[in-house]
Amino acid sequence: MIDPETAWAAVLRRDRSFDGRFVTGVLTTGIYCRPSCAARHPSRANVRFFAGGPAAAATGLRACKRCLPDDVARDQVAVTKALELLGNEEPLSLEQLAGAVGYAPHHFHRLFKRATGVTPAAYARAQRTKRAEVALDENDRVTDAIYDAGYSGPSRFYAETKGRLGMTPSAWKNGGAGAVIRWALVPTSLGEMLVAATEKGICRLSFDEDSSALADRFPKAEILPADAAMEALAKGAVAAVEYPDRMPDLPLDVAGTAFQEAVWQELRRIPAGETRSYADIAAAVGKPKAVRAAGSANGANNVAVLIPCHRVVRTDGTLGGYAYGLERKAKLLEREGVEG
Ligand SMILES: [Zn+2]
Repeated sequence: MIDPETAWAAVLRRDRSFDGRFVTGVLTTGIYCRPSCAARHPSRANVRFFAGGPAAAATGLRACKRCLPDDVARDQVAVTKALELLGNEEPLSLEQLAGAVGYAPHHFHRLFKRATGVTPAAYARAQRTKRAEVALDENDRVTDAIYDAGYSGPSRFYAETKGRLGMTPSAWKNGGAGAVIRWALVPTSLGEMLVAATEKGICRLSFDEDSSALADRFPKAEILPADAAMEALAKGAVAAVEYPDRMPDLPLDVAGTAFQEAVWQELRRIPAGETRSYADIAAAVGKPKAVRAAGSANGANNVAVLIPCHRVVRTDGTLGGYAYGLERKAKLLEREGVEG
């Protein structure tokens, strides 16, 4: 049993880390509380400390209805069980998680955050990132690694890791030194498309280009023709052009400045069938005055269609520019259902 001085100090601080280690009996009211109880502090002279609820109850005290001191153990068991469940590969919603440990979702969310300092979703995210890093070490094929780690699909993975598992910015600045880039030219209804990918994802998707464009952009990378493993990516890229409403989630490997990456992330949030202006994008990344810079970041995009820079138009509604021709931009938007 904790000494009374330490216990009283914990009560005065409403220190949650002492919950479950003792209870505070209040002789004048006849109730006992957990140390962190939010009720007004009793006078020290009326307080007795007990090792737990049963010891307090044995003297005739009743459990406080506000802090429910007898539930501490149950709460701790629930949080421990939740941590275990969140360490598994199957993603769980808050409702599923709370249900599995026998609590109402909202209540459990608060309880979990209080006990661990993070929300269940944040904890699950951190666990997945950790598993993905382990899997990527063991596994060349990024898509396998992503599913191995329990992500619902590559775009979730990309969003959660913010592309940081892609080539590092310094590697890109260094001309792609150390990277192997494989490429294929594939026919689409908008013309021949260049698809190029590192082992981590698509690093360039463009029209009217061949592999010499890759040598210009990534002069120090090893540039090789596509292998069998790249076929799925190339097919997915074609599907993205032909069926934008069913655009597959494909892993990307892009790196830019923090601002460029923020703009690219924002572009990926524009749903098919909608457009934004450069001013919208600048505002969305928290730099409302950086309209021109947003335009440049848009133009620096290496992965056409999948990072949908074609969904950015002028404020007056006219199409503005497009690296691969206005006709292509118009066709892409038309397919997505944007009124011309
Ligand atoms: Zn209480």
